[in-house]
Amino acid sequence: MENSLDKAISLIRDVRNYPKEGIIFKDITPVLQDHEAFSMVIDSMAAKLKHMDFDYIAGIEARGFIIGSALAYKTGKGFIPIRKKGKLPYVTISKEYALEYGNATIEMHADAIRKGESVIIADDLLATGGTANAASELVTEAGGIVRCMMFMIELEFLKGREQLSSNEIISLLKY
Ligand code: AMP
Repeated sequence: MENSLDKAISLIRDVRNYPKEGIIFKDITPVLQDHEAFSMVIDSMAAKLKHMDFDYIAGIEARGFIIGSALAYKTGKGFIPIRKKGKLPYVTISKEYALEYGNATIEMHADAIRKGESVIIADDLLATGGTANAASELVTEAGGIVRCMMFMIELEFLKGREQLSSNEIISLLKY
């Protein structure tokens, strides 16, 4: 088990100065492409949710869809997509949040969650926490309870964890 997780870690590719100067982008596509490594990542993340009671996994577009839907399948729960503005076909609720430069808006179907249902928010990576926080606000606004936030990778030096409202934050790999 350790070995395949080490393999997954070794497959994460650092792309310097993408999408802009000074950023080291953690490219997970080589992990996704390797069945053993990808399975190990999802199995390890799902294992951390084993004793947790929840109704849905909500994944944030786009890499949160990949991690989140695999996690939903593995844990036997439904999946809720949280998308970029204008992509969902039905009635939506939306949340605008600040990026390093400018703003972004994410949306969720207004009827995705019933009052009191509990949700795990999933994404590939936690950086400053702005995206996950906006997702959390959407879930709460819809009447849901954010049970936990889960990330494949956490960039600890950005201290995103400190910005998050959820008291349960789980990441598989820390940098
Ligand atoms: P943040 O809102 O700052 O926590 O940023 C998190 C979102 O941006 C996630 O959806 C990540 O996929 C993406 N992201 C931010 N920084 C990086 C990075 N260094 N490498 C890969 N993805 C990143």
